[in-house]
Amino acid sequence: MDMHHHATAAIISIGDELTLGQTLDTNSKWLSDQLVTMGIVPVEHVTVPDDLDAHVATLLRLANKVDVIVCSGGLGPTQDDLTRDALAKAMGDTLIEDPIALSQVEAWYTSRGRVMSANNRLQALRPTRGLVMQNLHGTAPGIAGRIGNCDVFCLPGPPKEMFPMFEQGVVPRLRLQAGRTMMTRVLHTFGVAESDLAMRLGDLMKRDANPLVGTTASGGVVSIRMRYEGSLTPIEAGQVLDSVERTCRDVAGQFIFGSEKETLASVVVGMLRAQKQTLGTVESCTGGLLGAYLTEIPGSSAAFIGGLVTYTNELKTQLAHLDAANFAEGGPGAVSRETASAMAMGGLRTLGCDHAIAITGIAGPDGGSAAKPVGLVYIARASRSDSEVDVRGFKMIGDRQNVREWSARTAMAMLWQKLSGLPSVRMLREA
Ligand code: AMP
Ligand code: MG
Repeated sequence: MDMHHHATAAIISIGDELTLGQTLDTNSKWLSDQLVTMGIVPVEHVTVPDDLDAHVATLLRLANKVDVIVCSGGLGPTQDDLTRDALAKAMGDTLIEDPIALSQVEAWYTSRGRVMSANNRLQALRPTRGLVMQNLHGTAPGIAGRIGNCDVFCLPGPPKEMFPMFEQGVVPRLRLQAGRTMMTRVLHTFGVAESDLAMRLGDLMKRDANPLVGTTASGGVVSIRMRYEGSLTPIEAGQVLDSVERTCRDVAGQFIFGSEKETLASVVVGMLRAQKQTLGTVESCTGGLLGAYLTEIPGSSAAFIGGLVTYTNELKTQLAHLDAANFAEGGPGAVSRETASAMAMGGLRTLGCDHAIAITGIAGPDGGSAAKPVGLVYIARASRSDSEVDVRGFKMIGDRQNVREWSARTAMAMLWQKLSGLPSVRMLREA
């Protein structure tokens, strides 16, 4: 057997629901993350339908290219679950029933007071030269096999079954390169354009640099990704990443709100909790979206007390105590600096919180005018400790949903600027 280490990997996701767009392939992302941290570089993701020939052809092509393939899906007991057959065919092998796998599948049913149906027997099949991996969280055992010089691991599709099987069945069988370290780090920014950030990072982003630094943008959050790969020890590699991170913070620190799995909401909730302060919201065009983002975070109730959804002028007046003159002929109107500011102050008073954030804007597609176009949004933050309200106008881009999501995130970023104590900087799209 070739004892060359596993340097490169490919990931195959199997299922009609994936190719037809009914389910998002999240397994590939997770598997790639795992492999990268172990120093194995995923070089290709492929999604195939529940089709034997497509799966076999993909296995054969990738087995010629990479050291290890990880498949997920297609191990169920029904007609459309063809991964067992595909692996056997690509290996030039046939299937036999594995007695241990069969007893494990049977035990899975009997321990739950159920009877195994005849077609579940199929799940105990494996190529004669393959081996099964026990599934502790479902019925489908995994299968490991080898095509030429490539090791292939087939895992069940449901993430709850796939994750633990990868850890218990695959990780111990991976051949990692001794002395090779791969380490990643991610920082998240908000309020800065990706091109501006790239300019600030300058030579750090050279394609031959190690750590390699790149950026990705999603919903206004621009993330800085760093990846070290080489012969340094993990401690040394960590120090190298620390030094790159320091440079990133030097050139863009006023926009970096978090790292790794953190989000604007998780960071803001965490800071409010740490500072023992509370937040309330007064939302118009976002209709509660900001509150929804905040309450996605476990433990948010210690910081977020709730909010007012004041969509009409009447409710803005009634609940947030706005002066009706705001909306009268010749007044500033519902979408204005004055109204946003008054909504935040009204929220502070009505809700009895330490900070109140208000959002009012024109999400479109209708309702815009020359003076107040679609995408015009005012966001205000009032804090008990400040005499002044931080109120800013923005020109958001995109469709209704983009404007609403971007507004709710911008509101969190404005609060983050306050809570972090950093000098407030102008944000992207600030008018
Ligand atoms: P299967 O092993 O083919 O029976 O997969 C069953 C279920 O697992 C699917 O209906 C999906 O809900 C889920 N699943 C399969 N593949 C993936 C994937 N690549 N990413 C996320 N979920 C998946
Ligand atoms: Mg399937």
